[in-house]
Amino acid sequence: MTAPVVTTARPAADALAEVGRLIQETWGYASLRPLQREAIEAVLASRDCVVVLPTGGGKSLCYQAPAIYLAQHGQGPMVVVSPLIALMKDQVDALRALGVQASQIDSSLGPQERRKTLDDLRAGRLHLLFVSPERLIGGPKEMPPAERPASALIDPLRAAGVRRFAIDEAHCISHWGHDFRPEYRQLSTLKTLVPGCAIHAFTATATVQVRDDIAAQLTLENPALLVGNFDRPNLIYRVLPRRDMMGQIQDTLSRHPGEAGIIYCVRRRDVDDLVTALNAPGGSGRPRALGYHAGLTPQTRRQVQEAFAREQCDLIVATVAFGMGIDRSNIRLVLHTGLPKSIEAYQQETGRAGRDGLEAECVLLYSGQDVITWQYLLDRSVQDALATGTPVSADYILSARRHLEEMDRFARGAVCRHKALVEYFGQPYQPATTSCRACDHCLGDTEVLPDALRVAQKILSAVARTGQRFGAGHIIAVLRGEHPERVRQLRHDQLSVHGLLADRSSRELRDFIYQLIGQGALAQENLLLREGRPAPILKLTPASVEVMKGLRPVRLIQTALQSAGESRRTESSWEGVDRPLFEELRRRRKEAADRRGVPPYVIFSDATLRELARVRPTTLAGLRYVYGIGQTKLQEYGAEWVAAIKAHCAAHHLPSDLPLAPTVPANPAAAARGPAGLAATAYRRPPAQKALAWKLFAKNTPIGQVARQTGRKPSTIADYLAEYITQERPASIAAWIPDSIYARVAAAIKTTGSTRLKPLFIALNETVPYDQIRLVAAHRGALARDD
Ligand code: ADP
Repeated sequence: MTAPVVTTARPAADALAEVGRLIQETWGYASLRPLQREAIEAVLASRDCVVVLPTGGGKSLCYQAPAIYLAQHGQGPMVVVSPLIALMKDQVDALRALGVQASQIDSSLGPQERRKTLDDLRAGRLHLLFVSPERLIGGPKEMPPAERPASALIDPLRAAGVRRFAIDEAHCISHWGHDFRPEYRQLSTLKTLVPGCAIHAFTATATVQVRDDIAAQLTLENPALLVGNFDRPNLIYRVLPRRDMMGQIQDTLSRHPGEAGIIYCVRRRDVDDLVTALNAPGGSGRPRALGYHAGLTPQTRRQVQEAFAREQCDLIVATVAFGMGIDRSNIRLVLHTGLPKSIEAYQQETGRAGRDGLEAECVLLYSGQDVITWQYLLDRSVQDALATGTPVSADYILSARRHLEEMDRFARGAVCRHKALVEYFGQPYQPATTSCRACDHCLGDTEVLPDALRVAQKILSAVARTGQRFGAGHIIAVLRGEHPERVRQLRHDQLSVHGLLADRSSRELRDFIYQLIGQGALAQENLLLREGRPAPILKLTPASVEVMKGLRPVRLIQTALQSAGESRRTESSWEGVDRPLFEELRRRRKEAADRRGVPPYVIFSDATLRELARVRPTTLAGLRYVYGIGQTKLQEYGAEWVAAIKAHCAAHHLPSDLPLAPTVPANPAAAARGPAGLAATAYRRPPAQKALAWKLFAKNTPIGQVARQTGRKPSTIADYLAEYITQERPASIAAWIPDSIYARVAAAIKTTGSTRLKPLFIALNETVPYDQIRLVAAHRGALARDD
């Protein structure tokens, strides 16, 4: 993967500053996440762009905030293309709840609503208009896209002065993506239909092939490419051998009482079975689990999605068909009962957890059999396609196989899961500490087997002595010294390997066999078909021979913790939170959401609720300091919530109005890496430029000049400078901050007792820019360390 190229023409700095204010006032966010600033700049500059940020990375804000600004300045609304009606509806609801003028045009709209939306569009009343690709481009599907007549929507859009399009889930346009949608291909005519328009594409799919394809299909002109960091430090990854599936599921669920979760199954039948089991009387004791798969009617599927989004149901059991369009940000658990078919799919599905930045757990229950099942399903779908005369490209089959092998290798891998995932997406993994503290390996859920080589040699000898003609089950029986009929018939009980690993359980041996396959020290071939099902056999590889001769090391992992409930991890994001108050606020949020007919996360995120239940503000001014509370929400809910918090604190003798935590809660490793929200930083930064910047800072060079000399943007230089100040602790920062401003910010830090940006910004009557506050806060913090 190449490094991101950021060559956005810089829009007027005041436009950017104004968008920053708008974000603060409308959304209540004090800072931008990585690459949001660059993406907003590209939109403001009408520069085509491809923005690749992981799920939960904050893509929507990148087009929504500048869209509002541009529409307010008479530059027409932004049209957002989105694949699903449910997804559009959620976004429109969320935006309206923030006081933004947003609408959608789709098949669910009655003629009257449709007319009203078009009237609003004509009258310049809209900031954002959401449409599906087929609505936007139109024309009969059978016709080649280039020959189709323009849809009825194109003319009104042109007349309303639309010149910008945001394409959500843009990977749907690519054959190489994991979710290709033919309707998206129609978007390739957009540049012809609306000449001179800017197109901003957003996706969470990171491969170079998909990115390039998006740019090519949409005929983007010299697009800015912005690729974010793919690590999700707040997600805890656990990959466990699947043993007692139901027990493992129950065990996992017991760690998330009352929290939202999605359980993914490979097949529809498995979904139905699991829902029945979970809802059985005396079963899990959890609220009803609902099933979701492509075999259900569209209406049922819609109802299930709605119930989940509205928190009427907290547990969904689904095939991968469920997910896109699920914006619920407080999903605390994603559990896979089998191997996903690619790392991209795994990243996307697990990415639905913890979008609010709080900790969430992703459990993958895995068996070597899963690969065989997927291969079998793939072979069958290819055969079905060929039988009906549908051509199947060899590329597709190869690509599907490769994706599966990579996923398999990941599951068996013995390295940190965060590292493996990030490196898979071509990025360097640079945790602040030696451990991610958020995966099975780094949390100590697994242990390395001390005598791995000896155990591996015994397993490989058993495969060799039995003639490389048997599957794992038979090899295990031989190694354990068992005497089933088949072993006796074949006289394998006479072999020297019989009973060589009698001290190991079948489960352990099966795990080891699959790990050896994962390391290439053993192969599994699917040569036989018994009763229509594949019966895999184990074969030696060149690496097996090296292992047997002791020339090649192997690493075998044994799962030490049967229950991750025993994990050594502590959940820092709950620290200081009064849980009963959190639940009370959650109930109020749900009531407010039901009254408005919107999903609860549209009102406040869980991160906001936890901070409220930790800080317990009893005044409107105090409430405003809290993460995620902007003007509109303050007016709408402030008084009621302050009263509720006051009453709760009085009834339970709890102290209120506590100081704000230094950062929005995240996992400790993430916190060590820097506050999740602080100003945008691209993930790859040439150290030479940074070193030069530091040298220039030492000579008190102004930011603008450092930017020119290093070829970096002033915003990046401001980031460097904050770091420089924190580490180098210069006696004065007068070279960058006028004394009068310094004195005002320092006084505000004293009176608010906080170094958090948002409270300071408000205390300073919103007159001092964030960057300046940040530098003074960094300096005060650095000096305090000296005291
Ligand atoms: P994506 O579309 O990339 O999956 P979203 O746009 O849904 O991500 O954003 C994920 C969550 O992060 C949402 O709850 C959103 O409101 C929140 N968010 C986005 N940007 C910021 C920010 N700068 N500060 C705080 N929260 C943010």
